[in-house]
Amino acid sequence: MKQNLIAGDWLDGEDAIENRNPADISEVVGVYARASQAHVDQAAQAARAALPAWAGASPQVRADMLEAVAQRLFARKEEIGTVLAREEGKTLAEAIGETARAAQIFRFFAGEAIRVAGDAVASVRPDVDVEVQREPVGVVGLITPWNFPIAIPAWKIAPALAYGNTVVFKPADLTPATAHILAEIIHEAGCPAGVFNLVMGQGSVVGNAIVTHPDVDAISFTGSVPVGRNMAVQAAQGMKKIQLEMGGKNPMVIMDDADLDIAVPTVLNAAFFSTGQRCTATSRIIVQAGIHDAFVDRLSTEALALNIGNPLNPNTHIGPVVSEKQLMNNLSYVDIAQKDGAEVIGGERLERDTEGYFQAPALFLNATNAMRSSREEIFGPCASVIKVDDFDEALATANDTEFGLSSGICTSSLKFARAFKKQSRAGMVMVNLPTAGVDYHVPFGGTRASSYGSREQGRYAAEFYTMVKTAYSFA
Ligand code: NAD
Repeated sequence: MKQNLIAGDWLDGEDAIENRNPADISEVVGVYARASQAHVDQAAQAARAALPAWAGASPQVRADMLEAVAQRLFARKEEIGTVLAREEGKTLAEAIGETARAAQIFRFFAGEAIRVAGDAVASVRPDVDVEVQREPVGVVGLITPWNFPIAIPAWKIAPALAYGNTVVFKPADLTPATAHILAEIIHEAGCPAGVFNLVMGQGSVVGNAIVTHPDVDAISFTGSVPVGRNMAVQAAQGMKKIQLEMGGKNPMVIMDDADLDIAVPTVLNAAFFSTGQRCTATSRIIVQAGIHDAFVDRLSTEALALNIGNPLNPNTHIGPVVSEKQLMNNLSYVDIAQKDGAEVIGGERLERDTEGYFQAPALFLNATNAMRSSREEIFGPCASVIKVDDFDEALATANDTEFGLSSGICTSSLKFARAFKKQSRAGMVMVNLPTAGVDYHVPFGGTRASSYGSREQGRYAAEFYTMVKTAYSFA
């Protein structure tokens, strides 16, 4: 059994989680100790006790440790990617790519650890110096989803440690295997006892215990809107700093002047790869009338030609849906879209050699933006196609959503591209690029129901993982 890491010791839990391969549910990927509320208490206390030494350590020590994690992740990316593909279901190429990205994130923040800077400001009084310093926030609770089981933990853990915080980390219940390897690597890389703690288990028990623990100063969460909203209320009650990254209903506008050789692969990738299980996936395709039929013909032909199957097979484009519950959710939206009047292409459950949660990509043609399938996040390989007359209608439709994570436009007009970048109500805007393809060193996050608090990634992460102290001195 794989154990929790608390105060530098590997500990058993209260009971165990078994995770299975969604492409072959007869295969157990591993068995993991599930922590209790008492374990969270131990982990938070250990993180509190380890804080002064880690916050006071030389930035070079922190940088070296993060670089050692990066090197181990790079060196083991094929092996870790294989575990990731087996527990989450994305293809091996995507899983190895995600592991390499986690390594790059650790390397980036190894650099940031020694680059953190404040300000020297002139005082309005004579002989007084004013310095604006950045300090660690304290003990941070990091709670992550299953869909990027190594990259999302990396983009929280690396800045947290770089800026001198200590960590209590809880991965998703569905994907403990990858998180456990990451914890082993951080431990082997020489992270001092108590600085980084791993507690695996259920959100309602372990996650909730982290959010409400008096020793936890700040929470960074990625997951669904209802869980995030509730967490924001709990954090406010405890006066904790919080950062939430949540869902999306990301639009991609295809203008009449778009290049189909760019537009079709862009949408295909963002809507269906990683089984559509990306918060930045394109789920509303808003197409101008003049190009609509040609675009839909090509997109549906190419979507139906994708290979869905075992993610370890190099010919597979799309692996399984992550769980039975998620598959049932996706299939229910296929029904809803049909009943609401959309013409459904694909979307059915597929049989393969092994028993798994395979689903064909689904396009909901002739959809309207008012349909439930166009408004609610499905989080599977399903996308609505909505026909519009002109740019103004496309923009209004793209913005007509409670979310605001990522948005995109395919066009050859600089005028439309500029207007869309300016007026799209999303945190990330793409021109002739997939809504789901982001760099790891620039801000990540959205508006409205998609994000709450300051941005993740890049040097903007310092806003969350540090606090500002203004120091005055007179001599
Ligand atoms: P989820 O909200 O069910 O769970 C996310 C994490 O929160 C898990 O670790 C879970 O155990 C924990 N959790 C659940 N209930 C909790 C509670 N009451 N208290 C504390 N912790 C709790 O989400 P999921 O199903 O794992 O992931 C899918 C969702 O994540 C989608 O909505 C997707 O859009 C979102 N997501 C967002 C981003 C982003 O950066 N915006 C990235 C990836 C996924």
